[in-house]
Amino acid sequence: MKADQRPGEVKARLKALLCDLMLIPGLSGHEGRVRRHIAGLLKALGLSTRPDRLGNLIATLEGDQSAPSVMLFTHMDQLGLVVRKIEAGGFIRVERLGGVPERALPSQEVLICVGEGRDRPGVIANKSHHATTPEEKYKVVPYQDLYIDAGFASQDEVIAAGIDIGSPVVYRPYWVELSPDRIAGTSIDDRAGCAVIIEAARQLMARPKRPTVHFVFSVQEEFNLRGALTAAQAVQPDIAIQIDLLLATDTPDMAYRGDVRLGGGPAMSLYSFHGRGTLNGTIPHPALVSLFDGASRRIDIPLQRTAHTGALTDSSYVQFVGQGVASIDLGFPMRYSHSSLEVCDLGDLEGLTTLLVEGIASIDDGFSLDRDDYE
Ligand SMILES: [Zn+2]
Repeated sequence: MKADQRPGEVKARLKALLCDLMLIPGLSGHEGRVRRHIAGLLKALGLSTRPDRLGNLIATLEGDQSAPSVMLFTHMDQLGLVVRKIEAGGFIRVERLGGVPERALPSQEVLICVGEGRDRPGVIANKSHHATTPEEKYKVVPYQDLYIDAGFASQDEVIAAGIDIGSPVVYRPYWVELSPDRIAGTSIDDRAGCAVIIEAARQLMARPKRPTVHFVFSVQEEFNLRGALTAAQAVQPDIAIQIDLLLATDTPDMAYRGDVRLGGGPAMSLYSFHGRGTLNGTIPHPALVSLFDGASRRIDIPLQRTAHTGALTDSSYVQFVGQGVASIDLGFPMRYSHSSLEVCDLGDLEGLTTLLVEGIASIDDGFSLDRDDYE
């Protein structure tokens, strides 16, 4: 802890940042409200921002020009649904956008995003229990068969409310404090990453020695994992550090997958691969593994490790920009990914912030990205 920081101050700031961000809807491709909120926060810190045509928000903090430059990035969009058809009776059918778990959809409260002040609440219908047959009781209903009841009695009423084919729908933005450090709610993936980077920007600005850092809040990650590409092409970083959730495996149903504990501190991915069609993933650059291992030892914050298939992030694509970008995925443990109530631990977010600031600030002109120095 720095002398000018009161105990608990960073955690309190992270909590406020996270909880405010969780209440702002921002389906992939519709991130405007989140982007404007983050731009306002960065401006208050004294950082000017610029959007690109895809909607990514970029802020550059100049530093030592002779050191490798860094792009520190995370996504600000969230997964959800898109209006597919409006039934004559006023019910609304939807398409999935992103990895939406269909078995967690019935009975969910949603928000149909029409515009600030005009959004409409709705309920994803769950067939009346008294009419549910024994065969239906243990079956997942495909999303095509689900519908939203938003209180409308006709198609005309839906249209009059500003809802049309293509309107974005998200889980009702919500958060609740489960215990002093544990927060449950919507889109912790990846508003927690946004909160961490905003706080890391504040702390890096106070460091006299640091490399140039481009903070990027990216779009459409939950859609196709390539939104951050245009930002990386614009800033041409030497190093890319991606922040997102890493799967906590300390629940009864996840224990076989690894050793990542909620509340156990930040985590680093040593291997990710998403087989199902993308044939992509990230094997981190060894210089960055060594950088953050060293940083975690210096500041005495444990760094958990994960290696798993089934998921990937934007870093998988960012690493191929230019002559290759040295990339790594760092993150915070999270439970129940992509459900409407994800859970994270504020202590992990604080540890991740401290680790990032320590690691990034130590990148100087002697920091080698030559693989032969490590492999
Ligand atoms: Zn994410």
